[in-house]
Amino acid sequence: MLSINNLHARIEEKEILKGINLDIKAGEVHAIMGPNGSGKSTLASVLAGRPEYEVTGGSVEFLEKDLLELSPEERAGEGIFLAFQYPVEIPGLTTTNFIKTAVNEVRKYRGQAPYDAVQFLKLMREKMAMVEINQSLLSRSLNEGFSGGEKKRNEIFQMAMLEPKLAILDETDSGLDIDAIRIVANGVNKLRNKDNAVLLVTHYQRLLDYIVPDFVHVLYNGRIVKSGTKELAFELEEKGYDFIKNEVAQEA
Ligand code: ADP
Ligand code: MG
Ligand code: MG
Repeated sequence: MLSINNLHARIEEKEILKGINLDIKAGEVHAIMGPNGSGKSTLASVLAGRPEYEVTGGSVEFLEKDLLELSPEERAGEGIFLAFQYPVEIPGLTTTNFIKTAVNEVRKYRGQAPYDAVQFLKLMREKMAMVEINQSLLSRSLNEGFSGGEKKRNEIFQMAMLEPKLAILDETDSGLDIDAIRIVANGVNKLRNKDNAVLLVTHYQRLLDYIVPDFVHVLYNGRIVKSGTKELAFELEEKGYDFIKNEVAQEA
């Protein structure tokens, strides 16, 4: 599904990604872990096509297309979803209308007719039940005054509505209390199936108690320095990131 080869990227003249290689197949959940500042959020942002980041080398193929050639909107149309860590607040735009626009944009990209009100409502009901979100939250202005947990729930609801082929979730250190972890984990676990894939970025091993990944990768200083199964996450929990740093130092 996704093949990243020797990806290099920088922001403001500073090289952050220094040769990332990663292959993700349909049905798989990959966790990216690593110490703060190693480039995890940068990788997620580059895959989503955020314009602040400049790709300086390498390639990314997504479902046989050159991902780096596509605009963020086209990437969404192809089935990539990036959960925003700090979701924007848009007063005056209801969450429902925001999601309706997003869903119909993706349908338009795929040459499908937009959902009419009845079809959209049916899909909403189904997904609301799935991720256990309230109608009242969806009637409010997008993210305005939402608590951390409500933002998470809304984010997972957007993901459910868009039914992405590849969901990229950047769960940075902030705001991941136990409630947020459960919301994210339940959402991901309900949505994962043999046809989609999840790239889960996290600093903490704890999230992986709830979402069991097929593969775990450690990103350190802009490179994936170690890959394994969920056992690797336990090893990190036990030994901390210093053992990775020491291993890398010894190899150098
Ligand atoms: P992680 O998510 O693993 O904590 P990031 O990808 O956020 O790491 O950051 C990687 C590095 O890029 C850090 O050294 C960070 O300071 C730097 N960085 C991130 N965003 C910017 C930015 N907007 N301007 C300059 N440097 C940045
Ligand atoms: Mg590859
Ligand atoms: Mg980060």
